Amino acid sequence: MYEKLYIRIAAAGNFDEKFLLEFRRELQSLLWDNLGINATCFFSSSNSSIVPIYKIPKNAYTSHIGKYNTQSLFIFGKERREESLKQFGNLDVLLKVLVLVDFEIYRKGFAGTLFGEAEVGGDIAIVSTAPLENHFKSRFLIKERTLKEALHELGHTIGLDHCKIKGCAMNLSKDIYDIDEKKKTYCKECLNRLFGGYS
Ligand SMILES: [Zn+2]
Repeated sequence: MYEKLYIRIAAAGNFDEKFLLEFRRELQSLLWDNLGINATCFFSSSNSSIVPIYKIPKNAYTSHIGKYNTQSLFIFGKERREESLKQFGNLDVLLKVLVLVDFEIYRKGFAGTLFGEAEVGGDIAIVSTAPLENHFKSRFLIKERTLKEALHELGHTIGLDHCKIKGCAMNLSKDIYDIDEKKKTYCKECLNRLFGGYS
């Protein structure tokens, strides 16, 4: 299906660099090891080790909700994507942006806890680590959950819909317990959809 996938990770909020570096390394290796997707995950450019951590985008905070709207985060993601396309010389590259934030997000018309958002076939995936925190304060657990949610939202961008199979990363999570039930991979059916097409 894919010759090469580029994923720019654009982190906004108060992340620490070590967490982001580990996350990037693991995301890239599990895309390849578990899914056979040849992806390069990077932060600023594909040949730089600089990890920019962005401020919360302006206009993202919606005071009457007390959370940050994903609409602004999509715009933020699109801006990062444009930057990267320029760096690539606007070549015909398959480039997705994973917007990673550590504050609570919301989508208009959705009242529950939002872990992330992406459009099927879109270019931008959003994941928030805020609802993935745990009372153990375990970095490992947050990272595991973040990886699963990143696979879920990135899965939408590469054409996958929600999946009914328990354990599949494309299964819809209502709460963190659902996320913990999921594996860091897609089920066979989803993989077939990705690599075998829809027909
Ligand atoms: Zn599946």
